[in-house]
Amino acid sequence: MQDGILAYISIGSNTGDPLQNCREAIGRLSRAAESVLLSVSSFYRTEPVPVADAEGPPEAPEKQNWFVNAAVEIRTTLLPRDLLSAMQDIEQAMGRVRTYRGAPRVIDLDLLLYGQNIIREADLTVPHPELHKRLFVLAPLCEIASYVLHPVFGVSMRGLKDRLEDFRTVERLTLK
Ligand code: ATP
Ligand code: CA
Ligand code: CA
Repeated sequence: MQDGILAYISIGSNTGDPLQNCREAIGRLSRAAESVLLSVSSFYRTEPVPVADAEGPPEAPEKQNWFVNAAVEIRTTLLPRDLLSAMQDIEQAMGRVRTYRGAPRVIDLDLLLYGQNIIREADLTVPHPELHKRLFVLAPLCEIASYVLHPVFGVSMRGLKDRLEDFRTVERLTLK
């Protein structure tokens, strides 16, 4: 596919076998309609955001498992809303149950960037509003999109990562 938009998606899981869940989601994304999977980052083992920072029951942060995170680049002719639907279909097919924001999840797919488009709708914000605040997103993303500009800030992903102060642990997994 020559035409289409370059879009970046973050992948995360912290229940069951998180690495396997991420791999399965990438396999499913590679089969998404009107899309070609172009690149895949390494996998990272990442410390969860304390649940106190999220919505929902005041569960002790240590109860949350660590995540596996990755990022992928696709070229797609799906409109942003249709891409989000395709991502949500994958989440559902993999058994994601929506409880509260920040809850443990079998798979989470977030649309980080859709070309240089800026979208601010009730159920879709692109660039993803937390993208520039999260090392667990920027570390994998910088492997595959370090020169890509953030359309709101006009700063590259590499620039965002370099200026970020997020001290939670993000370790690249070395896999055979
Ligand atoms: P966070 O957005 O902080 O990473 P989360 O991924 O846990 O939190 P979800 O419960 O997965 O949040 O999603 C909540 C809603 O966010 C979804 O119903 C979706 O409509 C909306 N949403 C808005 N912008 C995006 C985006 N860029 N990518 C994915 N979902 C988005
Ligand atoms: Ca998320
Ligand atoms: Ca999400």
